[in-house]
Amino acid sequence: MIKVIIFDLDGTLYKSKEIAEKFARAAHYTLSKFKNIPLDDARKLIEEKRQQMEKEYSDSVPQTLILNSFGISTESWHKENIDFFDPRDYLTKDEKLKKSLDGLKKRYRLTVLTNNNKIQTERTLAALGLNALFDRVYTYNSFKLLKPNPEFFQKAVEDLNVEPEACFFIGDRNSVDLEPAKKLGMLTYKVKGPEDIYDLLIE
Ligand SMILES: [Mg+2]
Repeated sequence: MIKVIIFDLDGTLYKSKEIAEKFARAAHYTLSKFKNIPLDDARKLIEEKRQQMEKEYSDSVPQTLILNSFGISTESWHKENIDFFDPRDYLTKDEKLKKSLDGLKKRYRLTVLTNNNKIQTERTLAALGLNALFDRVYTYNSFKLLKPNPEFFQKAVEDLNVEPEACFFIGDRNSVDLEPAKKLGMLTYKVKGPEDIYDLLIE
């Protein structure tokens, strides 16, 4: 029996071209700053690496993992993107999603599990009008772990004090969200964005 629904954040609870673009620009800026190279060179290096890594992952690769591959720590990258942009400037309340989650909350515990950092996650959930809905919000800062590392999922399940089989994971990326969740024994559901959650019924 499902007891907990775990949502990915970016690309799942909202979809925004502007924010994806801001994350990409923040990544270029961060590599340029840390390697002391021109911005355009940093952009080329990152995009080359992205193409290379996408072959391994078979879908889009998190910016964090790309920057890690250049020796930039997750902490440094998060600090830079927090300063670079504020998601509240680009997002508005999603009433349809709020209504759907309010309904699900009557039957299930709702949580978030994201590779994003605590500050950007709080800003994003506040802008969407969803900040009071979740029992737990797991970010990189919770355990210093990143998806697709199965340990991140495992730690969350332990903290929630449920079996993985009682969890329903909703995310937008197979290799990062759904495959590790499925391997642990969770049920999974792939979305293209929040519109796939508006009418979600879990039996
Ligand atoms: Mg995502």
